[in-house]
Amino acid sequence: MIETKEQVSMSQLNASPFKADLHVHTIGSGHGFSTVEENIAAALAKGMELIALTDHGPAVPQGAHNWYFWNLSHVPGLVSRALADGEVKELTVLRGCEANIIPDSTLYQSQWGLDVADIVTQRLDYVTIGFHPTTGFDDRDIDANTAAVVKAMQSPYVDQLNHPGNVREFPIDSDAVIAAAIENNVILELNNSSLNPLGARAESKMLEIDFAEKAYAAGATLSINSDAHFSAGIGKVQPALAYALERGIPADAFINTSAARVLTHLEAKRPRPLLEANRIEREQNSCS
Ligand SMILES: [Zn+2]
Ligand SMILES: [Zn+2]
Repeated sequence: MIETKEQVSMSQLNASPFKADLHVHTIGSGHGFSTVEENIAAALAKGMELIALTDHGPAVPQGAHNWYFWNLSHVPGLVSRALADGEVKELTVLRGCEANIIPDSTLYQSQWGLDVADIVTQRLDYVTIGFHPTTGFDDRDIDANTAAVVKAMQSPYVDQLNHPGNVREFPIDSDAVIAAAIENNVILELNNSSLNPLGARAESKMLEIDFAEKAYAAGATLSINSDAHFSAGIGKVQPALAYALERGIPADAFINTSAARVLTHLEAKRPRPLLEANRIEREQNSCS
């Protein structure tokens, strides 16, 4: 049977092809409502293969301290558990952050204009960045915003730019940002929470989709994430996925369809000391 474009889209929707969520918060963000453990349990129950813990950096109210991010090494990078039905499932847990782009990062010892120190981002598994209110970029100055985000993406440790389509609140030169993302191998996110009419970024809503469409056309690497602040939201990418498919962006244009795809991308970009330590430990355990 030859499937029509519409049928393919519907089957893509029903299959929920995203086994990795690269933007998840915990109570470490202050305004998140689930623990790491609750997030892990929820992700396993939903059949996820990977989540990235990306709590807010210290420049936003209630954001986590740099010591919090440094100490994420205590969280296991790979969890293996038997579910209620007896089946053993594995979940990769990337220990990451959502660093704020800030005008003066001297205090935080970042040369890239971030509120998470370079010695910390260097060792985290997954470093995401974004503009947030009250961190020095509320003036809607497109040139200042573009310069700051391009500089931040030049950090060798930055992996993903979050909600870049929030351009009403934080206007940017989209073409310049997309070009810098491609040049620096930074993933551009389509953020499902931005489409929530009750969410903080409702003002930019469909502009997130416009941005993703432009980034896809330019050949950038994309992800589609929940930005969950409660465990039940992990892996939730609707309605963003429906809009993306409508615009002709196929599900596999987003890198987070599987843990393997994400990890291959990450390993090619830079060393990941915590992930590497986990790998060595696993090898030693399997030999003993
Ligand atoms: Zn954010
Ligand atoms: Zn977030």
